Amino acid sequence: MPFILSLDEGTTTARSALYDGQGRRVSMESAAFPCRYPQAGWVEQDALEIWRAQLESARAVLTRARVAAWDVVAIGITNQRETTVVWDRSTGEPIAPAIVWQCRRTAEYCTRLAASPEAGEITRKTGLVIDAYFSASKIRWILENVPGVRSRAENGDLLFGNIDTWLIWKLTNGAVHATDFSNASRTMLMNLATGDWDDELLRIFDIPRAMLPRIVASSAFVGETAPEHLGARVRIAGIAGDQQAALAGQACFRSGLSKNTYGTGCFALLHTGGHVPVSKNRLLATRAASTNAQAQFAMEGSVFIAGAAIQWVRDELKAIGTAAESEALAISIPDNGGVYFVPAFVGLGAPHWDPDARGLITGLTRSTGRAHIVRAALESIAYQTRELIDAMQADSGEELSELRVDGGAAVNDHLMQFQADILGKPLVRPVDVETTALGAAYLAGLATGFWKSLAEVESFWRAERRFEPRMPAGQRERLFAGWKEAVRRAR
Ligand code: ADP
Repeated sequence: MPFILSLDEGTTTARSALYDGQGRRVSMESAAFPCRYPQAGWVEQDALEIWRAQLESARAVLTRARVAAWDVVAIGITNQRETTVVWDRSTGEPIAPAIVWQCRRTAEYCTRLAASPEAGEITRKTGLVIDAYFSASKIRWILENVPGVRSRAENGDLLFGNIDTWLIWKLTNGAVHATDFSNASRTMLMNLATGDWDDELLRIFDIPRAMLPRIVASSAFVGETAPEHLGARVRIAGIAGDQQAALAGQACFRSGLSKNTYGTGCFALLHTGGHVPVSKNRLLATRAASTNAQAQFAMEGSVFIAGAAIQWVRDELKAIGTAAESEALAISIPDNGGVYFVPAFVGLGAPHWDPDARGLITGLTRSTGRAHIVRAALESIAYQTRELIDAMQADSGEELSELRVDGGAAVNDHLMQFQADILGKPLVRPVDVETTALGAAYLAGLATGFWKSLAEVESFWRAERRFEPRMPAGQRERLFAGWKEAVRRAR
């Protein structure tokens, strides 16, 4: 039987999954790799450890499912976005630790850049808000801080890649140095309108073009793996950044469809078709993963701390033993008792982009207990999502009809019901919530004719449960006004 192999390289684990002809996941394996925090606000990983973990999980999933590499029609790759690797073209060794998307080491430089006359042009060309989150300032940091590397970069002896590019380069033994439009659009070096690296942006960040990968379509043949890695040559035919892959995995291929992923952070994306969105509310414009030659775009809002707030009440407050316990505790009380929790641990993301905000809990009284704090932490996820969706609707001038949801915290029924209530919109949760891996599989399967059409892939998507809003509008807006007041104080 033929299968599609999806390589899902996340921030903490490298997963690999096999899909059959009906788009069903038949097996999934994962391998973890460490994150290092050498200084306050710095986050690093070892690109070789990522590569080994990815290869280990890919081999494991084939072994576990008793599938030989020649039964794999194609590989799709999805990855943590923005994370930056620079390596030596001849040795294949990274010249520095990978700088992870969460790393704030270039925050000061970005604050200066945001105040410079070039700021407007950068945002206009890239669709991004100037922030340490994106790759350009991270590449620049490596060129400025690792001794003797600039001239080697200019000579083309050093290569840059996000994790998709790095894995493809390793899988092909250095034969292919490529990325796709969705990842390239997160570097802050690609012009959204032209779909190419932009000379002016390269000049501003002082990055030589010779280091950059070729940009290819998200759903297309890219190259073949060297036979020693998986036991045979396998075509690589799909690439997308994790959130764009999740959008595809939710079968959101058309303008107006949207999804929200509830993981460590929250990432809401609205597909805008062939139209480059322009945000007045500090959302991002980005490339969606298209399945044909036409450029497709999305509007994106990111919340940095969502499920991570639940980790915090579990690990630091020790108010719960597992993330899943948050649900029973939250419903053990009738409401939040006036308690709001703003988890601005690393500042606030969209639509505020306020790096200086810090977390707070407001409305404490003598009757406040741990259930209120846990409930308020869960509710913060829904309120932050409401802020994203409000901004999206204001920007697009359109009302969302429903929101497709996925991610680790989307299994929490209480959270999903509260989210529907606070949005005043229905939520739909699919049967397969591993949408990132699924999306990468769709892209590879469509490129190789394993699946014949978008319509076929769309037919695989099945709702597991729908959450209808039940809260009266007055109560909804009263609660949300309380949240906005708490955010004002956090800022
Ligand atoms: P990521 O891909 O960002 O690592 P996942 O999609 O695996 O994250 O989701 C994990 C996050 O979801 C964690 O932050 C965890 O606290 C949260 N989470 C997991 N289960 C629940 C639950 N039942 N209720 C609320 N949050 C949960």
